[in-house]
Amino acid sequence: MNYLLLINKENGLGRGYIPNNLVKVKIKTGGDKKIYLEKKTYKQIKKLLKQMNKYFDTEIVIDSGYRPFLYQENLLNDLIKEKGDDAYKSLALPGFSEHQSGLAVDVGFYNNGVYDAKFKVDDYIDEFKWLEENAYKYGFIVRYPKVKEKITGYIYEPWHLRYIGEKAEFLTKHNLTLEEYYEMFVD
Ligand SMILES: [Zn+2]
Repeated sequence: MNYLLLINKENGLGRGYIPNNLVKVKIKTGGDKKIYLEKKTYKQIKKLLKQMNKYFDTEIVIDSGYRPFLYQENLLNDLIKEKGDDAYKSLALPGFSEHQSGLAVDVGFYNNGVYDAKFKVDDYIDEFKWLEENAYKYGFIVRYPKVKEKITGYIYEPWHLRYIGEKAEFLTKHNLTLEEYYEMFVD
C-alpha cells in the first residue's frame, strides 16, 4: 500500500479501484453509519480519537470513510440537484475522491449523546485546531487547509483527514499540502 498516493481532481483512481485491505469500523460512528477504512488508517484513527476524546466534552467520531465509485456518483448527483454547479466545489468527480482509497476519514461530533449530523465548522474551532496540531502524530494530515484552496482544488475542510504515514510530520511542520510535497520531492 502506497500511503503517499496522490489523489485529487487531476489524479483519479478510476471506476474499478477497490482497496484490498478494507476493514469494518467497530467503534462508534456518526449516526451509527456502517463505515469501512483501510486497515492501517483505521488502527491509527482509533488511536487519534482515543487521545482527542480525552480533551473535549464533545465526542469525536468517524463520520465517513471508504466510498465506492458508485456511491460517489450517487452522492454527486444528489448534491448537483441541491446546489447546481457549486456541488463540484465540495465533491470530487466519481473516481477522483480520496475516500475511494480508504485512506481518508471525515470526523463528526456528538454533543451530550446527540449526533450533530450537519455541523457548522465554527462550532468546533478548538477541535479542528487540535487536529491541525496533533493529527500528524498518528500519520494524518488535514488534507484541505484554509489557505491552500487554490493548490488542493478544495474548499476548507478541517474535518477531512488523510492517512499518509510517517511523512505526515514533515508535511505538517513545513505546512505543505500533498500536492506541494509531490511538486518538490516526487518526480
Ligand atoms: Zn472527506
